[in-house]
Amino acid sequence: MSLFNHVEFDHHEQVCYVSDVHSGLKAIIAIHNSQLGPALGGTRMYPYANDEDALTDVLRLSRGMTYKSAMARLPLGGGKSVIIGDPRRQKTPDLLRAFGRYLERLGGNYIAAEDSGTSVPDMKIIAEETRFVTGLHDKQTTDGQTRSGDPSPATALGCFLGIKAAVKHRLERDQLDGLTVGIQGLGSVGFRVAQMLHEAGANLVVTDINDEVLTRAQKELGARIVALDDIYQQPMDIFSPCALGATINPANMAQLTASIIAGAANNQLDTPETGHLLHKKDICYAPDYVINAGGIIDVCYEQLGAYDSQQVNRHIEGIYDTLLELFERSRREDIATSELADTVARERLNRGETVEALRKIA
Ligand code: NAD
Repeated sequence: MSLFNHVEFDHHEQVCYVSDVHSGLKAIIAIHNSQLGPALGGTRMYPYANDEDALTDVLRLSRGMTYKSAMARLPLGGGKSVIIGDPRRQKTPDLLRAFGRYLERLGGNYIAAEDSGTSVPDMKIIAEETRFVTGLHDKQTTDGQTRSGDPSPATALGCFLGIKAAVKHRLERDQLDGLTVGIQGLGSVGFRVAQMLHEAGANLVVTDINDEVLTRAQKELGARIVALDDIYQQPMDIFSPCALGATINPANMAQLTASIIAGAANNQLDTPETGHLLHKKDICYAPDYVINAGGIIDVCYEQLGAYDSQQVNRHIEGIYDTLLELFERSRREDIATSELADTVARERLNRGETVEALRKIA
């Protein structure tokens, strides 16, 4: 397995394979780019079929973090880590502590946070061995409540605002009432997005592999449940992928009735070419790493010791404007939003363009 010739390599600065015999830890830590600051990105635990799949995933996700932070003007680089294993069976405190010791050895070049298959309590165990983990602390929200370090509520808020931006651009509407949104995945982010959409008067069509969340969405939000493969063909205005990556491909795109795709999942498009096809079909696609940046914005403020929920919310609200600008420029210049987002992110990266208030404390 070649790293430097890997199709997803994209000039990564550092890729570490780590293992620990005692705990059974097998992990890969990838640092894509640290031009703007230390690489920050989640630790995913997943039972990858082989090392090659784990490497491909970590490289794609880590590059995505560079673009996500650059686009959100954060003083952070891009990185990600994957632990190979089934989180339900193989995640032990020993394994998490061993992982923490490796993070500590990297000396802060990479900072971990929770991701699929890991949680805030897991991060707290990792933090017993390293300073370089974030998303741990309880936070005061703007309504005076306290919530855990979990970034999902922030991601959900950004995603909801991103949906509104897409509706403003594509459907020329400020309100969501009466629109139908198809949501794929009602987890930590998807369920919250569903709640906000319901409150805004939207109708919901939902699918998930977990019957419990489906029943809850039906009862609490009046959502209509459909089978996994049936979601694409449902009559809907907006499709919101909030489960897995690579769920948008030419085959299911052909079934879509929605004129907007706006959801929280990472790496939604199977290939870059799909982004061009969406543009040709006049489907307004909100690039994943732009619309789902709420979580990284949230943990960035925490990591810098500058958490202020009003300031964080204002920063997340910027996702609406960033997307609106992208959509308008995409139309004006006849370029797919996916391609344009990469261009703008690279421009911001090269100019070292970060938010003034954060640059001062970073
Ligand atoms: P989660 O694990 O809490 O939720 C995922 C949901 O998708 C679960 O309810 C799961 O049952 C469901 N699911 C799994 N396979 C499915 C399938 N084939 N079809 C339909 N549903 C399926 O994860 P999350 O934290 O809500 O994140 C959702 C997505 O958003 C992920 O792609 C994640 O990488 C991305 N994301 C999350 C955050 C965050 O702050 N949590 C930030 C940025 C991006």
